[in-house]
Amino acid sequence: MGKGYLIDMDGVIYRGSEPIPGAAEFIGWLQSTRVPYLFLTNNSCYTALDVVVKLRKFDIETTTDHVYTSAMATAEFVHKQKPAATAFVIGEGGLLKALNDAGIAVSRERADYVIVGEGRVLNFELVEQAHRLIASGSRLISTNADTWCPTDNGPRPGCGAIVALLESATGRTAYHVGKPNPFMMRAARKRIGLATDEVTMIGDTMETDIRGATDLGFESILVLTGSSQPETLDQFPYAPTRVVTSIAELVPGRHRAARISEMHFG
Ligand SMILES: [Mg+2]
Repeated sequence: MGKGYLIDMDGVIYRGSEPIPGAAEFIGWLQSTRVPYLFLTNNSCYTALDVVVKLRKFDIETTTDHVYTSAMATAEFVHKQKPAATAFVIGEGGLLKALNDAGIAVSRERADYVIVGEGRVLNFELVEQAHRLIASGSRLISTNADTWCPTDNGPRPGCGAIVALLESATGRTAYHVGKPNPFMMRAARKRIGLATDEVTMIGDTMETDIRGATDLGFESILVLTGSSQPETLDQFPYAPTRVVTSIAELVPGRHRAARISEMHFG
């Protein structure tokens, strides 16, 4: 396998508010052996700092430079397309901060882009304003195409579902920046500083993690602790390089034993 890892979080590191056993050990092994890694998430609600603080609850100590969200990728994309653009945003703090950090101002009037992200802020007034802006020339972008997201209480509609409403109303098609878009996958590879054949993507979703890795020529490891079931893998025209039951399988034996003895005696 490669020399560094892009790691999806939901369904790989945790599920809702529950950590997945072995995740903290795997990240600890990467850190102790200085293997490059980057958490890669399509969830645009949170800032990199929010993610770092969330991971701490699961015994994972990391820093913001190890986090790359679809909100950050979207801000990078828009900045490259049109520096100092303005945007009308239906999304949460992670998206608003990423856009501002990239020099993109948020505006309710005459915005260059309508940008939709994950979150619970949706109301009809926002959709109506977005519709009018798109009708008068704003370009439609979304942070990710996921139509649903898992939560502790079951599924909820995702960014892709919200943007589908606007696509249906306006007749325009959105550009989705998040995984599997090669824009985000390539930006992540550059951030981690590795060549294509040195990167392995670890994820739980065929349509995003494994598809994105396949498109870019990365190796990929599918974990079965999230959205994929082994009996459905045949339905896809592409396959991961490797399938494991969980991230715990990727922890080398000696490191696992050392962590367990640390827990018992240290
Ligand atoms: Mg996932």
